[in-house]
Amino acid sequence: MKATLDHVGVAVGDIRAALSFYRDALGLEIEAAEEVVAQRVRAHFVPVGPASLELLEATAADSPIARFIDKRGPGLHHITLRVDDLGAALAQLKARAVRLIDEAPRPGAEGALVAFIHPSSAHGVLVELKQAAPRRQQVAAAVARYAVGDLQLVSLSDGIIRLDGGLMFGLVPKPLWEKRTPADERNRVTLTMRPLVVRGTRTMIIDAGVGNKGDAKFDSIYGIDRSQSLDRTLAEAGLAPEDIDIVLATHLHFDHAGGFTVRDEAGRLRPRFPRARYVVRRGEWEDATHLNERSRGSYHVENYAPLAEAGVLELVDDDQTIMPGVRVRRTGGHTMHHQAIWIESKGEHAVYPADLLPMTVHLPPNWIMGIDSYPMDTLAAKKAFLEEAAAKEALVFFQHDPATPAGRISRQSDTWQIRP
Ligand SMILES: [Zn+2]
Ligand SMILES: [Zn+2]
Repeated sequence: MKATLDHVGVAVGDIRAALSFYRDALGLEIEAAEEVVAQRVRAHFVPVGPASLELLEATAADSPIARFIDKRGPGLHHITLRVDDLGAALAQLKARAVRLIDEAPRPGAEGALVAFIHPSSAHGVLVELKQAAPRRQQVAAAVARYAVGDLQLVSLSDGIIRLDGGLMFGLVPKPLWEKRTPADERNRVTLTMRPLVVRGTRTMIIDAGVGNKGDAKFDSIYGIDRSQSLDRTLAEAGLAPEDIDIVLATHLHFDHAGGFTVRDEAGRLRPRFPRARYVVRRGEWEDATHLNERSRGSYHVENYAPLAEAGVLELVDDDQTIMPGVRVRRTGGHTMHHQAIWIESKGEHAVYPADLLPMTVHLPPNWIMGIDSYPMDTLAAKKAFLEEAAAKEALVFFQHDPATPAGRISRQSDTWQIRP
């Protein structure tokens, strides 16, 4: 069998001391911690080239890691090898009388399948075999290019965010949504954030992801993964922040507007795109600057207040053309003034519905996010949207969908589908 080193697990007694060595002394980057509730362990991944270190911290006295440390002290705990077909690997090992802890694959973190080999068969080392998550859950290419008439569209990525399943699916029962969108140990589902660049008479970016101002606590709560950041994907697309003329906001939630501003070396907030004017709908701006107990969690003023201070903010009142071929249209629903971006050139159409239709699983009109402020408005707006997008054969961008950045919508008898 072909096996590649995935990670090395280290049992850690004092996580703060361990971080001060791995992060501060060695200068390595530590990813947001992931809790594996069933194992009563918190895992801190430390990328080192193609493989990682996994610092394992017990969260309860009866955790297997706590017992390991009691018996043998902190230190090397296991190594993990990645294989293509875990079932076949286990069969091969059984045929050679290797002693297995797991006779059959069992679910591991992030949709992977895992099985452990007993140290007595592996010369004193606990070996974990891992088969990565099936393709459907994998993330599509970070940069994808499309043409709509004379306009060039480039779908970018600002990485991954993990949001609570209830927030994403509202009244849809978990047994239904979980089949299509697996949840992690903290009931979070995985979302991409995909800003869209439109190149025509000017260069525009629609939304800008979560950005990089969040602290470790924020990154942990939202499971932020910045391995595909907007800076990186912009560069891959051959663009620099200075190339952007217009930043257009669908709305100002932090997973869309976080990348509008950055903190400079002196700690001051400034616009991320130095030459751009930032176009925001006035009603959305008003709501985002007058927060209430319900909206407060989704809006972070440091993402947009500095735009007004820098004089680069442009508020628009109505549905209108922002640059030739690009028009904003209010949808409401998700927020009162949430807007979709319709793109048209030479009779071809594309549309960026943002959180009106965040992922392909939200195609059924009644699959409405729990976070939507006006769900009945979402229902009406989505039904009209689906009809119009199908009639125009528009290329629809699903900015939060890990597997499908864009597709065309069609109706098969009573259900809406994505056409390749
Ligand atoms: Zn939103
Ligand atoms: Zn969103």
